[in-house]
Amino acid sequence: MTPDCPPHLLHQSPSIFEQGAPGRSGASLPRCDVPERDPSVDWGKLARSSPAMLPEVSEVEATRHFTRLSRWNYAIDIGMYPLGSCTMKYNPKINEWAARQLGFLALHPYQPESTLQGALALMHALEGALCEITGMARATLQPAAGAHGELAGLMMIRAALADRGRHPTKILIPDSAHGTNPASCTLNGFDTVSVKTGASGILDVDTVKAACDGNTAGIMITNPSTLGVFEEKIAEIADVIHSAGGYVYMDGANLNALLGKFRPGDAGVDVMHINLHKTFTTPHGGGGPGAGPVAVTQALEPFLPTPTVEKVGDRYRFDFSRPKSIGRLRSFYGNWGMLVRAYAYIREMGAEGLARAAELAVLNANYLRARLADTYPLATTRPSMHEVVLSDKKLKKETGVTALDVAKRLIDYGYHPPTIYFPLIVPGALMIEPTETETPETLDAFVGAMASIVEEAKSTPDLVKGAPQHTGIRRLDETRAARQPRLRWRKEG
Ligand SMILES: *Cc1c(COP(=O)(O)O)cnc(C)c1O
Repeated sequence: MTPDCPPHLLHQSPSIFEQGAPGRSGASLPRCDVPERDPSVDWGKLARSSPAMLPEVSEVEATRHFTRLSRWNYAIDIGMYPLGSCTMKYNPKINEWAARQLGFLALHPYQPESTLQGALALMHALEGALCEITGMARATLQPAAGAHGELAGLMMIRAALADRGRHPTKILIPDSAHGTNPASCTLNGFDTVSVKTGASGILDVDTVKAACDGNTAGIMITNPSTLGVFEEKIAEIADVIHSAGGYVYMDGANLNALLGKFRPGDAGVDVMHINLHKTFTTPHGGGGPGAGPVAVTQALEPFLPTPTVEKVGDRYRFDFSRPKSIGRLRSFYGNWGMLVRAYAYIREMGAEGLARAAELAVLNANYLRARLADTYPLATTRPSMHEVVLSDKKLKKETGVTALDVAKRLIDYGYHPPTIYFPLIVPGALMIEPTETETPETLDAFVGAMASIVEEAKSTPDLVKGAPQHTGIRRLDETRAARQPRLRWRKEG
C-alpha cells in the first residue's frame, strides 16, 4: 500500500478549524481555584450560550499547522520581492531586537503617563525625525496604514477649510494615482476629479490649472508617481492649488526614493502620509500591521488627531485638549511596535545612510531598466526613480505571452511576481521595484530569469502560459478564487 502524500508535501491541508478534537487544548492552565459562575448571571443576554467556535488543537498541531503554512509562503527573507509600489524591502533584524525590549514589549496603553516616559520620548523623537525628513511641522503616528493616513489627511483638509468658512467639494487626482486616493476622497464626501498625466509622463501645470477652480478643496499627488517618475512640477502645481484656496496632499508611499534628497514641505506640500512599512523597513503583507503617519504644515497642526505627544520641560505628555482636532483615528496610539522598528531603522541609518538608501534604490531600479527595456518596453522615457514600469507589448505581439504569464512563471524561478496591470494607464504593465536591499548578483539573476522567460515564450509558450509549474497550487482562476473561496479542505483526486 502506498501511503497518502503527507500534507507538508501536498501543499494542502485542512484548515485549523477542521483539525483537533472537541475539548483538546494546547494550554495547560492550573485548576480553577474560585467557584465557577454562570456568565448569564452577570451578563444576561450578552452571555454566550454556544461554543466560541475556536480551534481545539494541541500545541504541536498548532505549531505544525502554522509552520507548514509558512513554508508554502513566500517572504522577503527567502528571496527578491520586486512588487512595484509596495516597497518590499528587507526588514532589518535589529528592528526586531529593539521592538522586543521588555520595556517596550510589555507596555500597557492604560499605564499612567509617568510610567510611559520612554515610549513617549520615542514617539516624540520619531515624529521629529519624520518632520525633518519631509520638511513638515508636525506629524501624527496614529494611522494604521497609508490609506488610513489619506483618510486622516483629507479629514484635516476638510476641517481646515471649514474653519475658514469654506466647503469646496472637489479633489483633483492624477489618472496615475493609487486606487486608495479616489477611495479616500469618496469616504470623505469629496468628489474626485481625474486629471490626465501629460505626454511626458508627469503632471503638467496647465492641466491642473484648467481643472482647478473655486470649488477645489485640494489635490492628491503621488511623488514619485506610480509610473516611477519624479513629479518635477510639484512646486508650481502647489502654487496653482494654493491660489485657489486649496491644499496639497502628497501621497508619500514612494518616499523611499526621496530620502535626504527632496523634502515635500519645501515644495509647498501641506499634508502627506508616510508608510513606515514601505520606506522605513517595518514588516508588511503577512508580516505585520502597517503604520501610516501623517505629516502636516504649521497651518494644519491644530487639526491633527488627538492625542498628540508634547514635551514640557524634560517630561512628555499626551495632549487631549485640542478643540479643532479631527478626533481620534484609532484606539490608543497606533501600531506601537512598528513605531519602535521605524525609529530603530532611522537611528541605525542616520541622515547619510537614509540618503544612501534612496540613491541605491534608484540605482537598482535604473539598472533593471537598462537591462530589461529592450525586451520589455518602457512605459515612459523619463528616468526612473525607485521603480520601473515596463510593458508586455512586444512579448505579447510576438508570442501571445502576457504580463500575467510572466509574473506566474517568475514564481517557478523563485521570485515573487512583480505588480502587474498597474498603473492602469499602462497597458500590460509590469511594475518592478527592486529596492536598495538587493545585491547586484540578485539583480543579475532576476534579469536572467526575465530573459529565460522570453526564450521560453518563443519556444514553448504553453509552458509559460501554464505557469507556475513547480508550486503545490497551480494557476488559479483568480476571479473565482476571490468570489467563491473554497474554505474547506477536500483531498484532491
Ligand atoms: C501602498 C500605497 C498606498 C496605500 O498604502 P497602504 O499602507 O497599503 O494602505 C497608497 N498610495 C500608494 C502610491 C502606495 O504605493
